[in-house]
Amino acid sequence: VPHLPTFEFFDPMKRLFPTLALALFSMSLGSCTADKSAGTSAAGSAAPVKTTRNDGYRTPPVRGPVPRNPDMNLPSGRPKGPTITYSRVNVQGKYIAITFDDGPHASNTPRLLDILRARNVKATFFVVGKNVNLYPRIAKQIVQEGHEISNHSYSHPLLTKLGDAQYHDQIKRTHDAIVQATGVTPRLLRPPYGALTQRQREWAFSEYGYPTILWSVDPFDWKRPGSGAITSRILSGTTQGGIILAHDIHAQTVEAMPATLDTLLRRGYKFVTVSQLLAMQQNAATQTTGTVETVPVTE
Ligand SMILES: [Zn+2]
Repeated sequence: VPHLPTFEFFDPMKRLFPTLALALFSMSLGSCTADKSAGTSAAGSAAPVKTTRNDGYRTPPVRGPVPRNPDMNLPSGRPKGPTITYSRVNVQGKYIAITFDDGPHASNTPRLLDILRARNVKATFFVVGKNVNLYPRIAKQIVQEGHEISNHSYSHPLLTKLGDAQYHDQIKRTHDAIVQATGVTPRLLRPPYGALTQRQREWAFSEYGYPTILWSVDPFDWKRPGSGAITSRILSGTTQGGIILAHDIHAQTVEAMPATLDTLLRRGYKFVTVSQLLAMQQNAATQTTGTVETVPVTE
């Protein structure tokens, strides 16, 4: 089931919503701290909203114990054998991979990184090359914090509709942007909408060593169904060896992550990167000794 065409990048609401949310947030802050008069109220004003960058945002500290993903020194691997497309991986043990597409995003990606770091969860980010060039420092932070970063095309087109030269350009520009920004060579391809022809898959594998990575759990978070729905869809769809699809460009998705991650950890799942998951398939006997460090609860 492709996560589909109501096209993410050109939806004006998408751009408007974070701006509005930020404006409302600053207005409410203003009303708490400025005790002077109502003279500065912006209500009813038609003046354009001036926005500022949100780089300094930090996620507030979590209250109470948070489950922690175990430390696992696992190798990353490429698949051997004929399969070059994966939507899940057969593994022994409750290993899963969570993936975040379409970023980096100026404010939502740093917030997500804080949430992941607090739980020692390592994720895989399928980034859009254009956004890597916009936010190279965030791309670098993704890598520095132990996450995997990989190719999701340069401008998020439906790749199956492109000619060879255009397709190759989408892959190469993104590959180069990631290397340039992070110093790391991406190892995986996730095509926008999950759409890629067999010939395109084979080319990505032979030219870049990229297996094509789809997903087994799709919460349709890009439709913004609310963070509660995103959490419950991911929880009900996740099974051992699964690959979870999510999008770090959406505030709702980021807001859904604390409850989602904590519940999966308490259910005994261990988060690894997609390349680590692939490596486990080659050596299904891989065992680790890590465990979740809080008392499991019954859901
Ligand atoms: Zn995408």
